[in-house]
Amino acid sequence: MRNVYYYDVVVVGGGHAGAEAAAAAARLGATTALLSANLDTVGQMSCNPAIGGVGKAQLVREVDALGGIMGRAIDAAGIQFRVLNRSKGPAMHGPRAQADKRQYQQWVKEELEATPGLVLKQEQVDDLIVEPVANSGPGKAAWRIAGVRVRGDAEYRAISVVLTTGTFLQAVMHTGEAKTAGGRAGEGTSAGISGALARLGFTVDRFKTGTPCRLAASTIDTASLEVQPGDATPQPFSFLTDAIATEQLVCWITRTTPEVHAVIRANLHRSPMYSGQIASRGPRYCPSIEDKIVRFADRDSHQLFLEPEGRRTQEIYVNGISTSLPRDVQEQMVRLIPGLERAEIMRYGYAVEYDYCPPDQLQLSLESKRVAGPVSGGPGQRHHRLRRGSCPGARCRCQCGAGSRRPRPAHALPRGVVYRRADRRPGHAGS
Ligand SMILES: Cc1cc2nc3c(=O)[nH]c(=O)nc-3n(C[C@H](O)[C@H](O)[C@H](O)COP(=O)(O)OP(=O)(O)OC[C@H]3O[C@@H](n4cnc5c(N)ncnc54)[C@H](O)[C@@H]3O)c2cc1C
Repeated sequence: MRNVYYYDVVVVGGGHAGAEAAAAAARLGATTALLSANLDTVGQMSCNPAIGGVGKAQLVREVDALGGIMGRAIDAAGIQFRVLNRSKGPAMHGPRAQADKRQYQQWVKEELEATPGLVLKQEQVDDLIVEPVANSGPGKAAWRIAGVRVRGDAEYRAISVVLTTGTFLQAVMHTGEAKTAGGRAGEGTSAGISGALARLGFTVDRFKTGTPCRLAASTIDTASLEVQPGDATPQPFSFLTDAIATEQLVCWITRTTPEVHAVIRANLHRSPMYSGQIASRGPRYCPSIEDKIVRFADRDSHQLFLEPEGRRTQEIYVNGISTSLPRDVQEQMVRLIPGLERAEIMRYGYAVEYDYCPPDQLQLSLESKRVAGPVSGGPGQRHHRLRRGSCPGARCRCQCGAGSRRPRPAHALPRGVVYRRADRRPGHAGS
């Protein structure tokens, strides 16, 4: 017998975007189910466990002003807060915080679990359920979303479905010549949704991103490296946080050398990016170290930041050498970097390729143009995803008209309103 469950809103995926979407929909009164393939990874930070930065921190504050999660989560789980570009004018300031990755993930999951009207379900979504629209015509969607089908002969029926599947659709991870199915190290891939979207006429394309290796802190010669402390007075992200009281950790700074660049150049043919193994494009602002060596060939050194991934782990994120080069090349590279001569790699860097729908298939409300009802979290990077998470969540609630069952007008806060609130914060420099 097929099990069928009914909700106002179903959110697929429990990453940054899904967490915001589900919480927003539930906060506004919609009965909401967050379906994610593994509930132990709800709120997981895939790559750099950091929030904010230049051009991104204001998005966190906008989501916070809408009642979102991320700002409060990083204030609770931050291990180093810094305002980047402080020497420049206020418009250039970029508040950024490094998170304790595990604590951040647990905080987000606990917050979702405590949200009234929201249930978390461990489910693998394999297909979309659509119904024909009776009075469809030119320029109108021919299909309406009705829910999703999950593995194990069950369906979740909903008025709105938010897809926030991140890097998981038909995902393949690359480290040198080695290819593994999966959207993130240690996790699986998601097969059915891309096919369902393609059958409905969506353009489905491939995207790629990558991550650096993680090193064991005890094997790094930190005494020889420049220390990068956090700010003396850490600045919170959330308007609800009065002050950051937890102890701050330091990071360290080192640099690549001409010898490192020579190793990379000699092995470019083994990088999936350059061997043709990866054909898709990556986001503009997350270049791999291979990319940097090729594109900025005149530079003989690039700055690297060694960032702890938490208070209770040895793992250090090497910010600046995202790579899909083979393991042996990663080991050679690392050992040529000052301070890392004896460093042990705990996790190797890799690139991931995955399906996404180019966002020009969405309306400004973030509903899809092709199918009435579903709203997409979109294919952007972390901070854009979270805005695309909280806005669709709120929008779904409007579609459902939860409580009254009458659809309400789209929920949109003009930037002026959000920033007026930000400007009232004592000592707020603007962002
Ligand atoms: C190796 C790597 C490097 C990255 N580097 C960066 C970077 O440098 N900067 C940056 O901004 N972003 C980077 N990203 C992108 C990162 O994914 C986003 O920043 C952010 O995590 C996206 O959040 P999200 O909520 O959209 O998706 P994700 O965090 O990817 O979450 C997707 C969720 O959907 C779930 N899911 C997927 N399919 C299904 C299904 N069919 N059924 C049920 N659940 C499903 C997954 O289990 C997961 O919980 C990187 C990602 C990876 C994997």
